[in-house]
Amino acid sequence: MTLKFGVIGTGAIGREHINRITNTLSGGKIVAVTDVNNEAVKSVIDEFQLDAAIFPDDHSVIKDPNVDAVLVTSWGPAHEHSVMAAIEAGKYVFCEKPLAATAEGCQRIVQAEMKQGKRLVQVGFMRRYDSGYVELKRVLDSHDIGEPLMIRCVHRNTSSNENYTSDMAVSDTLIHEIDVLHWLVNDEYQSVQVFFPKKTKHALGHLIDPQIFILETKAGIVIQAEVFVNCNYGYDIQCEVIGEDGVAHLPEVSSVVTRKEGKRSTEILVDWKLRFQDAYDKELQDFMDSIRKTGKPNGPSSWDGYIAAITSDACLKAQQTGEKELIQSVEKPVFYQNTPQLSFKQT
Ligand code: NAP
Repeated sequence: MTLKFGVIGTGAIGREHINRITNTLSGGKIVAVTDVNNEAVKSVIDEFQLDAAIFPDDHSVIKDPNVDAVLVTSWGPAHEHSVMAAIEAGKYVFCEKPLAATAEGCQRIVQAEMKQGKRLVQVGFMRRYDSGYVELKRVLDSHDIGEPLMIRCVHRNTSSNENYTSDMAVSDTLIHEIDVLHWLVNDEYQSVQVFFPKKTKHALGHLIDPQIFILETKAGIVIQAEVFVNCNYGYDIQCEVIGEDGVAHLPEVSSVVTRKEGKRSTEILVDWKLRFQDAYDKELQDFMDSIRKTGKPNGPSSWDGYIAAITSDACLKAQQTGEKELIQSVEKPVFYQNTPQLSFKQT
């Protein structure tokens, strides 16, 4: 069975996903597209030679009987509207982060999905599919380094654009660590505090950069997460888990080592799309495969989107107050329990 996708939003990540569904992955086809930007739609149809209908808005894509699943890749504030409409129509949804612009919006999606009685939504938290994080989780789950005590992680980008604001350090950047870290250690967040080190000369005037987030989990693990979006040297994701019996590191991206003129060097990626390319492929392949095999998506759920949103809200509050802020504690509904772990096989 081919899963027929309607795409809402054909900007940067929308194009990437359209390309991988059309040219790399198996079992999916783009049959409908919409974007508020008509030029973006036309260029994507031309570039990937899509045999897809162009619709004026998200509702008409969702209502199209030819569409089995909706790919929501518009900008964040528009996500809730499209996801809610897709759930009401009983259609599968792959939604890029954030699931909704607010925790209340995510909660409405969770309620709507539970009312439908079936998991329909997967959120694009692709790091759970990255082979490095999967391997790190395997080591932690095996208790090879004992109980995790501390985590140190780093999220650095070469530079940010003029539209990037200090709160986006949370909503656009840290959000990936927020999702993947509690999944890694099977724990929940309890509090967060934010520290602002000396500002880099490479950040524009309005932006606080770098920022350090200290998150504590219910089990007492202390996480130090650095967001530094004008690090000036590349796209660099690091994660080190310090356990009772040892330390485990996220593997470095493999790169050829050259020895030349008295120096040994390896390349550092500068493009985030390349760092997680395999993970993006695997998350969408898993979305299609699990729907085909089990009738529901298998990856990060609406509940995960909601947890990310309430944690992100506390981080944003902590940015403002400078105090340690508590992260709202919520009980996972039975509906989202026993969500199978990711079904894809690492190669
Ligand atoms: P983008 O390049 O700005 O693309 C978004 C596109 O959606 C634009 O063409 C925009 O048109 C259009 N759009 C906005 N509102 C719409 C609506 N209501 N209906 C239809 N189209 C609409 O942004 P992007 O970088 O692709 O990001 C899209 C989403 O993906 C964001 O939520 C972002 O956080 C997420 N994302 C996730 C990752 C990841 O690593 N998982 C990476 C990148 C992005 P205009 O340009 O005219 O506004």
